[in-house]
Amino acid sequence: MAGIYIHIPYCKSYCTYCDFYSQTNLSSVGRFAGALISEAKSRRDFFPDSDKVVRTLYLGGGTPSLMNPDDVGRLASALGQIFEFDLSAPDFEFTAEVNPDDILPGYAESLAAAGVNRVSMGVQSLYDEHLKWMNRRHTAVRAIDAYKSLREAGIGNISIDLIFGFRALTEPQWIEEIERIIELRPEHISAYQMSIEPGSKLGKDYRRGEYTPPDDDTSYREYEYLRKRLAEAGYDHYEISNFALPDFRSQHNSSYWEGVPYLGLGPAAHSYDGESRYENIENLGRYLNYFGGEKPADTGGINRRESLSERDRFNEFIMISLRKTDGADFERITSLFDQSLVERFRENLITVLKEGGVVSDGKGRIKIPPEKLFVSDGIIRDLFID
Ligand code: SF4
Repeated sequence: MAGIYIHIPYCKSYCTYCDFYSQTNLSSVGRFAGALISEAKSRRDFFPDSDKVVRTLYLGGGTPSLMNPDDVGRLASALGQIFEFDLSAPDFEFTAEVNPDDILPGYAESLAAAGVNRVSMGVQSLYDEHLKWMNRRHTAVRAIDAYKSLREAGIGNISIDLIFGFRALTEPQWIEEIERIIELRPEHISAYQMSIEPGSKLGKDYRRGEYTPPDDDTSYREYEYLRKRLAEAGYDHYEISNFALPDFRSQHNSSYWEGVPYLGLGPAAHSYDGESRYENIENLGRYLNYFGGEKPADTGGINRRESLSERDRFNEFIMISLRKTDGADFERITSLFDQSLVERFRENLITVLKEGGVVSDGKGRIKIPPEKLFVSDGIIRDLFID
């Protein structure tokens, strides 16, 4: 089953740690939905016949909550017609990322009326001094109020994003923050270690010596506390950074991790058709010129195909499989890839198994043990084929 990702490249301001593609000039937001529909029409044959049933729609960014909910509804129903899916089907997942600051009276209801049935809210912290340092627009109180408004509007599937592993965060603060989030009882929690992206303000501060990250032991303890406490509270830790109450795993993100085709619409969006990856240009002006006017004949110049070698595809498959806590199925690896690659992988696997970086369940599945998930990047790199 396939999914559609839509990148909404607008933000009111840039967060300290972020280097996603977005613009703070909001003057074109009102005509962006039309351009997306135009792109979707030009890519109506994207999905392979074997995998063309669209079951998830995801509005990410950027800040999708800067869009008018009427435009969100118009976009979703147009996509439903183009790709022949039924938004109101009981198992259809339609997620929108939101900034708490945008959840003004009536907004949550309008979003629900547009068909959104899952909301992913970037809370990031429940401490105002941290939110200020991150240059987030909202306060902690605003985030809690936004959560309540979403609930009152009938959104029964809410995901909260949090960040740990940054200098100002103390361990007692982190413990208290997790308790407050558990009290809210969101269906899903994503928690990311603060990363220093080269293109972000934090990256510049780091290069100038104005920011020093906490030591790895502190971040490790924060991650371990999170993992254990959320498990006690009934959350299933199903991917390195993701936790869900039973039956509330993100279906959309799970399809990335399962290697299922997805179509990405909007500037800087990525797509995967089961064989190749495609990348849309990171240029909103060109995108709007192309899709905002006359009906385009194709996506030439807007959409670039990334050719992946068999080895790249293999390494990518290993990476996404081992990010999931139930790991990778060795038989599936064998059936998907050339035997010479599988043999080279087997040699690496034997070494990493001996070192305890991965464990086997004796039934053909391999996975990273929970206490080593924090250092999974290094373990996965050791398994890559050169
Ligand atoms: S974190 Fe979200 S709101 Fe902040 S700059 Fe990045 S995309 Fe925009």
